[in-house]
This record gives sequence, C-alpha cells and structure tokens, in this order.
Amino acid sequence: MASKATFAGPSGLCIEATVALTLRSAGNGESTNGSSDTPVRPRKRQRRPETWKRAVAKSKRAKGEEYTSPSTGVTVLSRGTGPDCRCRRRCFDSVSQSERAAILAAFYGLGSKDLQDAHLFGLIQSIPVKRRRPRGDGRTSRRATYTYVVRVAGRSETVCQKAFASLYGVSVSRVRRIAQATSTSICAPVDKRGKHPRRSRIQLGGEVKEQIRQHIKSVPALKSHYSSGKSKARKYLSPLLSVAEMHRLYVEKHESNSETPLVKYSYYAKILTVNSILHLEGPR
Ligand SMILES: [Zn+2]
Repeated sequence: MASKATFAGPSGLCIEATVALTLRSAGNGESTNGSSDTPVRPRKRQRRPETWKRAVAKSKRAKGEEYTSPSTGVTVLSRGTGPDCRCRRRCFDSVSQSERAAILAAFYGLGSKDLQDAHLFGLIQSIPVKRRRPRGDGRTSRRATYTYVVRVAGRSETVCQKAFASLYGVSVSRVRRIAQATSTSICAPVDKRGKHPRRSRIQLGGEVKEQIRQHIKSVPALKSHYSSGKSKARKYLSPLLSVAEMHRLYVEKHESNSETPLVKYSYYAKILTVNSILHLEGPR
C-alpha cells in the first residue's frame, strides 16, 4: 500500500535531526513558562461552535433576522408581521401598528426557537370538542378547537389562527403543531431539529476508544532521545503524517464496510490529544 510506504519515509536520520531541534526549543519554552506567570497560550485552536456557519444561521433565524442557509444557500429575509387575516372578526384591527412591532420585537428577542414555542404554547388554549358527529366520508373529525390569544401591553386579544401566526411572524404550520401539542401534552414541543442521536453517540463505547488508542500507538512515531524531564516518554507524530491522514487510515482499517464512518475525525483527534499518546508539536 502506498500509505505504508510513506511511514518508512526518507532516512530516519533527517527526521531525528529535526525533532531534536524542536525538542530543544520546546524545552526552553517550558522553562521560561515555569518561572514567569505569563499564561500559557493554548497550542491548539479552540473549538468555538457558536461561530460555525450553521450555528450563526440558526441563531439569526431564531432572532428573525435575515440569514442564508449554509446547506441550501437560500437567503431568507428578516421576519415581519404576516398578511392580514381578512376574516369576519377583523382580528388585525384589534392590534395597532406600534403594538404589532412591539409583539415581534419581544417575540424574536427571545432568541431561541424553544423559548418562542413555549411562549406561543402559553397563548393557545385547546377546547375539547363536546360532541362528535360521525361523518360518513371517512374523514376524522377534529378533536379540539383552539383559541389564540395575543398579549399586548395591558390587555389580551383573542384572534384567529391566521392572525395569530401573522402577528408573531411565524408560519401557520408551526402554530398548528404547537396547538396540537396543547391538547396532548403539558408543555411546548422541544426543538428536535438536528438533535437526533447519531449512531456514533450510541455506539461509541469503551471498545471503540481502545481501538482508536491502539491504532494511534500502532502508527510509527518519533521518540525523543533525550531522557531529561518530561520529554523522556514523549512520542511525536511523524512529520510525514497528519491527524487527518491517521484518521483516514483508521477508517480504512476498521470501518472499511460502513458507508459513513462511526468515528469522525473530530472524535479521533480528541482521543489523540486527550490521551497524549502522541504529541503533535513535531517539526514545522
Ligand atoms: Zn382573523
């Protein structure tokens, strides 16, 4: 295999020379850090999930701001009051322009879909249907009717479903879903988007962890020749390999028959760094 050949690499001499250099400089760094109080700069870039494209889009969406979906590339304009219901009750006229703006601002100020749904949940009341008449055409009769209340400063207005959706700038289908929850459960439905337990979460147990550890150990590493201090037992990642490459080799060896790898790169990298089996600060 081509990848095996790269392990052997060019002459070991040249690699060892570079490692020796790096070790010496690393040693110096440690001694200065030990004597002064300057905080140690983390070697690795930190994970900042809140800055990931999808998280940014999700947050903007929940705040009712304009966002572009990273998966579809579609730009969704910022939320505003929806169309007038134009029903007999003239629901829209019961809420003034400035009140509409205040409702939207407060609602989107909640910032998360779960909080918003909980808020809407509290404004919808389900009234069980008293008497069901059998319908010959096979349609299932409705189980409940709902009342929708819009809370404005100092008073509450009962409006129709369409007006309710429009005033909160949400879709009628979202209102319908929450309304259905009011007749079956005691609290609002929780956002399940993107939260389905993945296979990896369930199946990644101790065995897989150990397998990853063994794989990391099996990869040819560079050993330090210096027996002083910490560096004695340290092993370094070969400059011919990257963590991504190691992960690829792992998947090739242990998961060749699964379509999507159980062990993701991030998980593999985490095991590698947390367990300090291999140190990454190789020659640059
Ligand atoms: Zn109406």
